[in-house]
Amino acid sequence: MGKIDEMKTSTRVLMGPGPSEVHPRVLRAMATPLIGHLDPEFLGVMDDIKAMTQETLQTKNPLTFVVSAPGSAGMETCLVNLLEPGDEAVICIHGVFGNRMAEIAERCGAKVIKVEAEWGTPIKIEDVERALKNRSPKVLAIVHAETSTGVLQPLEEISRLTKAAGALFVVDAVTSYCGAELKVDEWGIDALYSGTQKCLSAPPGLSPVTFSQAAIDVLESRKTKVQSWFLDLTLVKNYWAGAKRAYHHTAPVSAMYAMREALRIVLEEGLADRFKRHQRNYELLRDGLENMGIKYLVEEKYRLPMLNAVRIPEGVDDTDVRKRLLEKYNIEIGGGLGPFAGKVWRIGLMGESSDANHVNMLLAALKDVM
Ligand SMILES: *Cc1c(COP(=O)(O)O)cnc(C)c1O
Repeated sequence: MGKIDEMKTSTRVLMGPGPSEVHPRVLRAMATPLIGHLDPEFLGVMDDIKAMTQETLQTKNPLTFVVSAPGSAGMETCLVNLLEPGDEAVICIHGVFGNRMAEIAERCGAKVIKVEAEWGTPIKIEDVERALKNRSPKVLAIVHAETSTGVLQPLEEISRLTKAAGALFVVDAVTSYCGAELKVDEWGIDALYSGTQKCLSAPPGLSPVTFSQAAIDVLESRKTKVQSWFLDLTLVKNYWAGAKRAYHHTAPVSAMYAMREALRIVLEEGLADRFKRHQRNYELLRDGLENMGIKYLVEEKYRLPMLNAVRIPEGVDDTDVRKRLLEKYNIEIGGGLGPFAGKVWRIGLMGESSDANHVNMLLAALKDVM
């Protein structure tokens, strides 16, 4: 092996499905010297993160904390803790991430009932009603912001139906968190997971989660042990339990420093203003793309402001355009997943990347490379 030089990467403009750009204050926080994860000062850092996570999720749930792994681990945490072999789980699927939830629920030994919608459209209320009829599943799980299709799924009516069926309402808010309205308590959400690298604009690798009292009751009445030791809430929750904190694993200290600063930035801006900014920059992008004849995949009222799924115009080569955007302009946008590969671009306007200058730059660059 030859000598490996010091790492140097290009400065990219991140406008894909994540990670999003990170504020310099967050990068500086990451460079704070390490302290031990059981140091009383680090306990203060964890308490701050917990309080700000509750505030940004609009919840009072005491069991709100951060899983030391990315969004997919948050997904797995919610499902492995609530499901036991033989339980029924209704899983709503309108894209890649709904499929991933079904896959995990099956691995928990649950009997999965799928409610599906055509990709690019939300799950229909009637289909949820039909699936819940004459059934009392343990959970109903659904993705709020389907990053693979750009659909914002309305949740309140489905929450009501789920409660009426006696099930726990489990929500994937990885992409919506800190970018669009999300009210855990008011919307009756029992278990929710998110990620740090999308609209929170912190580096990837952590997953904020929250559980209602009803979810804790289910957890405490389990007949079997949680199949995953690392994600077992009955163990990990003591690690986040303030002064009583006991060693469970070594928290990713620097990533937590970053998350703490990113949360401070969100609360300084204010949730309402942050959501308005995401909406405003989506509208700017939409108008520019429509002027170029580029069409959205999703009907206007179900569109995500932070993830714009648009159809690649006839005769335009997907990989060639994305390669030139990256090489000539240092701009990253996302390609389509699954059935949308080669047919759809996914343009992310998440957190720090939701910015009018970014939008104008991308529009100009796209015009050039197309
Ligand atoms: C990105 C994403 C995930 C997975 O998060 P990772 O941090 O990539 O593990 C899950 N669900 C949705 C909707 C996402 O957009």
